[in-house]
Amino acid sequence: MTDREPLLEIIDLNKHFYVKGQQRPVRAVDGVSLELNRGETLSVVGESGCGKSTLARAALRIHEPTSGRVIFKGQDLLNLSRKRLRAKRKEMQFIFQDPYASLDTRWPVGSIVTEPLVIHGAGDYRSRQKKLHELLELVGLDPTAANRYPHEFSGGQRQRIGIARAVALEPDLIVADEPVSALDVSIQSQIINLLIRLKQDLSLAYIFITHDLAVVKHISDRVAVMYLGVIIEFAGVEELFSNPLHPYTQALISAIPRIDYRQSGRRIVLTGDVPDPSDPPSGCRFHPRCIHRMDICSQEQPQTLTLGSNGSWHTVNCHLYTDAINL
Ligand code: SF4
Repeated sequence: MTDREPLLEIIDLNKHFYVKGQQRPVRAVDGVSLELNRGETLSVVGESGCGKSTLARAALRIHEPTSGRVIFKGQDLLNLSRKRLRAKRKEMQFIFQDPYASLDTRWPVGSIVTEPLVIHGAGDYRSRQKKLHELLELVGLDPTAANRYPHEFSGGQRQRIGIARAVALEPDLIVADEPVSALDVSIQSQIINLLIRLKQDLSLAYIFITHDLAVVKHISDRVAVMYLGVIIEFAGVEELFSNPLHPYTQALISAIPRIDYRQSGRRIVLTGDVPDPSDPPSGCRFHPRCIHRMDICSQEQPQTLTLGSNGSWHTVNCHLYTDAINL
C-alpha cells in the first residue's frame, strides 16, 4: 500500500445481534463507513449503548460482523481465514477499559507483556527479555516491575502494563476502548500523554473509543459521533469543536465541564435515554430527544451531507442542513 491510502477503511459495516425471544435484531452497528489514515487518531464518541465499542470489535472481527467490508492495509479482513486473521492481529492491537480485568492476575508482568511475542513466535527468550525491558521503560515503568504481579500496581500503572503489551508487536493500529475512564482524573492525563507520545514515537494510528469529549479534544485528529448504531457527524477535531452541527453533538459539547466560567455556554440537557436499538425511532433516530425536530424528522432518515468549508471537511446527518446543501 502507498502512504496515501487509508490504513483502515470500514465500509457499510453492520453488526446485528439476535436475542432469544425477540423478533427483531439489535442493530448495534447499522451501516457505518469510516476511514483512518496512518499515524492518525480517530475518536468514536457517543453515550453508553450507542454501539461504539461494538463497532471497534466488529471492525477487528473480535465480534464477527453481520455484513460490510473492512479493508486494512489493502486487505479485506472479512475475507481472511481464522488462521490468517490471527497472524494479521499482531498489526492491530487492543487496549481495554479495565486494566485489571484485562491482565491475567496469576502471571507476573514480564510474562503478560511478552505473551504476544511468544504467541506470534517473535524472537528467542533472550531477545524477548531485552524487548521486555525496553517496553517497560517506554511506558514509564521500572524494569523490576517484570517480576511483580498486577495486584501490586495502581490502576494507572496497570494501564501502562496493558499499553506495553499492546505495543510489544509494533502494531500499525491500536484500538483503545475507554482506556482512561476507569482511572482517577489525575491519572487520566498521564495515560493520555503517554498514548500521544507513543503515537509519535512508534508511528501508531488509534481508534479511540470514549464517551468523554474533553479527552477527545486532546487526543484526536478526527472525530466520529455515533448515535444508536449510526455515525451522525464526522469532522476534524478543531472543526467539530468550533462548529458542531448535529444537535446531539452540540448537546455533548455543551456538557463538557469548563474551568473558566467565561467560556461556559448554555448547557443543552439531553432528555430521555438512548432508545432500544432493536426498535429504533423512525426517520432520524435522534428525533424523540431533539429540541429542533421538525415534521420530516420522524418520517425520513437524514442522508449524509458534506458541509466542509474553508478546506475543512465535515459530514452530518440532519435535516436542518438539507437546504444549505441545495442552495
Ligand atoms: Fe433533530 Fe431533525 Fe436533525 Fe434529527 S434530523 S437531529 S430530529 S433536526
